[in-house]
Amino acid sequence: MFKDMFNRDSSLSFEVFPPKKDDEFENCYKVLSSLSTLNPDFISVTYGAGGSRSKKTVEIASYIQNDLGIDAMAHMTCVGSTADDILSVTNDLKTVGVNHVLALRGDKPRDMSDEQFEKRIFPHATDLIQFLNKNTTLDISASCYPEKHPEAISMDSDIAFMKMKQDMGAKMFISQLFFDNADFYRFVERAEKAEITVPIVAGIMPITSAKQIGSTVTLAGSSVPKALADICAKYAESPEDMRAAGIEYAIKQIQDLRKCGMGHIHIYCMNKPKMTAEICNALV
Ligand code: FAD
Repeated sequence: MFKDMFNRDSSLSFEVFPPKKDDEFENCYKVLSSLSTLNPDFISVTYGAGGSRSKKTVEIASYIQNDLGIDAMAHMTCVGSTADDILSVTNDLKTVGVNHVLALRGDKPRDMSDEQFEKRIFPHATDLIQFLNKNTTLDISASCYPEKHPEAISMDSDIAFMKMKQDMGAKMFISQLFFDNADFYRFVERAEKAEITVPIVAGIMPITSAKQIGSTVTLAGSSVPKALADICAKYAESPEDMRAAGIEYAIKQIQDLRKCGMGHIHIYCMNKPKMTAEICNALV
């Protein structure tokens, strides 16, 4: 799994999203080339909720793996997929030599009815992981939630399903973004007590505009500590200062994680190489 990154105390990986339109690929390749100069341990590529844009994920993952020579991880959701759909994507990944996937359920796509969602073929990420483990040789990672998944009835049940993901074959977890490291430390302690033994990588999203905090929190269900809320309020009318303060907040989060022995970090870098470089350069 990703060379020797877990033999070291710290690592950095990035998450990018594939272009929405065909004419945006060139720009995405430029973004990726810039990110590659920061020597990430791997770059992961997101996947459209219903799987409709899976080819774009494969194409970008292939570019990372083959043109940039950096390990790529393709995200994959199963909420709208049949077994054949999944196998078609895994065959595409095999063809281009991408061996790592982040196996996810995904959220209900907008164009999916409640009934279709209830009757989905792969109910959960655990089902996808089991299927991938049985039918492919892919290295499988999965998601986890330091503040619990918004649908989970309790943290205990969410962690029990996390353990099931590990038992089904997940070799690593990447966490949902969080803004208060104390949440992550508590979560890791509970996960370890529940016999989660595979590495848990911390997901960090830098907040570079006051507007971003609203959409991010709604989407991820992450809570906003007072220190970050104060930053957003203070610099709401001053975009440059907000950007600098948001980047500084992310750097401090990462430095604290490293100090506490949890130095494996996945940056939700939102295809922003300049911002990502500023963070990486501050960490050396
Ligand atoms: P699951 O693990 O299935 O969990 C969903 C809920 O069901 C939880 O409440 C859990 O406790 C419960 N549960 C889990 N297993 C079972 C079970 N066997 N039986 C009963 N209940 C169960 N979305 C995208 O569309 N594309 C992406 O590329 C993408 N990348 C992501 C990357 C990361 C690191 C993270 C953390 C999330 C990402 N997401 C992405 C969002 C993700 O799809 C949503 O959070 C989604 O709501 C849940 O997906 P999951 O795989 O965590 O679901």
